Amino acid sequence: MALKLVIFDLDGTLLEAMLDFGAVRAEIGLPPATPILEAIAALSDTEQARARAILDRHEAAVAERSCLMPGARELLAHLRERGVKVAVLTRNSRASVDLAIRRHGLAFDASVARDEHRPKPSPDGVHGLMAACGAAADETIVVGDYRFDIEAGRSAGVRTIALVSEPKPWARDATWVASSLADVQRLLDAAS
Ligand SMILES: [Mg+2]
Repeated sequence: MALKLVIFDLDGTLLEAMLDFGAVRAEIGLPPATPILEAIAALSDTEQARARAILDRHEAAVAERSCLMPGARELLAHLRERGVKVAVLTRNSRASVDLAIRRHGLAFDASVARDEHRPKPSPDGVHGLMAACGAAADETIVVGDYRFDIEAGRSAGVRTIALVSEPKPWARDATWVASSLADVQRLLDAAS
């Protein structure tokens, strides 16, 4: 089956992971190691507004000084040359996604940010991007550096690549494991 669409996570996948989740949790007053969006959703309306403002501020600061991961630009250009569509699926805000895209002069066929679909690990964003790009599940691959990326892809019935610098238990659930975007490129070339 031809590869038509690659859906990338943003932070830690195409961009260097710079958001300090611990600092965000501490400022909001959330316990360590809780998923931030889900914890915010459980707060009262007033607390949610305050928490979202804190998260947005941290994300905007990071987006202003974000760096591309090594090989990101080359990989995106390579896929475009092959006629493969590229998309972004992130738990970040729309503002921070657009800022990162502009800052690095990137182009995507589609993107899904926070609040536009139920967030990963829900498969909703994957389904939305496949519909937007006209790709079926067996023509789509999700690439990400966290278990939510792999869970979202698996729940949508698509193949997945876990991008990890060291072995992680959850990465075993991915179709493939890569340690760099150059690895990802080799896997995508072999997969299609
Ligand atoms: Mg990530």
